[in-house]
Amino acid sequence: MIETKAYAAQNEQTPLAPWTFERRDVGPHDVQFDILYCGVCHSDLHQIRNDWFPGIFPMVPGHEIVGRVVKVGDHVTKFKVGDLAGTGCLVDSCRVCENCKSDLEQYCLNGGSYTYNSTEQDKVTPTYGGYSNTIVVNEDFVLHVSEKLDLAAVAPLLCAGITTYSPLRHWKVGKGTKLAVLGLGGLGHMGVKFGVAFGADVTVLSTSPKKEADAKKLGAHHFVVTTDEEQVKAAANSFDFILDTVSAEHDFNMYLGMLRTNGTHICVGLPSKAMEIAPFAVVGGRKSVAGSSIGGIAETQEMLDFCAEHNIVSDIEMIDIKDINAAYERMEKGDVKYRFVINMATL
Ligand code: NAP
Ligand code: ZN
Ligand code: ZN
Repeated sequence: MIETKAYAAQNEQTPLAPWTFERRDVGPHDVQFDILYCGVCHSDLHQIRNDWFPGIFPMVPGHEIVGRVVKVGDHVTKFKVGDLAGTGCLVDSCRVCENCKSDLEQYCLNGGSYTYNSTEQDKVTPTYGGYSNTIVVNEDFVLHVSEKLDLAAVAPLLCAGITTYSPLRHWKVGKGTKLAVLGLGGLGHMGVKFGVAFGADVTVLSTSPKKEADAKKLGAHHFVVTTDEEQVKAAANSFDFILDTVSAEHDFNMYLGMLRTNGTHICVGLPSKAMEIAPFAVVGGRKSVAGSSIGGIAETQEMLDFCAEHNIVSDIEMIDIKDINAAYERMEKGDVKYRFVINMATL
């Protein structure tokens, strides 16, 4: 077994604190990589707080993981020692269901193995995430990372990146599309970058007027302050798609009014509570409410390669691991520019 240093929550009320545990030895199809950087996703906070479902504790969050390979199993063909490597939200899946066979492991019908707060495919062994010094993952769920990009700023691509890339590709957002990105946080700022890169006309919908200059710097063409009634009124019937990255309760019906006829409101944000949709808000204008979860492994690799080719990374604030609890407090207030990344050398 591999002695592993980490930060963990012992239950849903305690802050994260140092913890050690054992990872499995490197099996024939496994890659072990030492973690250099790990992004901080709002899902980490939802899960240590039991926002979605009762979690598996102790919990080591972190699913935006990059580092360098230190060991590979005998049968590994895709990686060698010294390579850069990344892992996102998934570490395994059943491999045999129709979704797994169609490169949609994120929708595995038999239950995928998530990187933490989940179990391996034996459905018993808990998984532990990237707020740790090293990780062992089956090679099929390890991604290649370009040496060309700033590695710390690549980490958030493994979740925030793929979660916004995948729906924009699925719904063919591009030239001639009017896209609104709702919420300018970790996911939102990547949604803006991809929307712009794909050629869409991009508007940021935000509760934070002070983010306007940043939104424009990220490439957004327009900015709407959603707490300003006049601006909301002026944005009626404007967008083909709203990419909704909001982490807390919000009024769907107000945003549905901003969609054009046949428009689609794509949920990627995962507030814990169910929200009301007025039938009138979707009936008038034949509107859709849809959702999307991360992306499959092949599409995640495609996204990483696209980012290397187009020089796209996340805008980050680097933190020491000891400051993780303070970072969560800031993230809850929407005060991040635009993703915290933990420098794992400080563990
Ligand atoms: P984040 O960095 O905290 O960003 C969320 C943004 O939402 C904030 O910056 C804020 O933007 C806006 N917001 C927050 N509270 C709001 C409210 N009450 N009303 C309106 N807007 C509000 O979080 P993140 O890491 O991007 O994650 C966003 C959500 O996506 C989380 O729920 C997370 O769990 C989920 N997620 C889903 C997937 C998936 O596969 N579907 C993957 C990753 C994360 P403004 O200041 O601009 O208003
Ligand atoms: Zn995430
Ligand atoms: Zn499956």
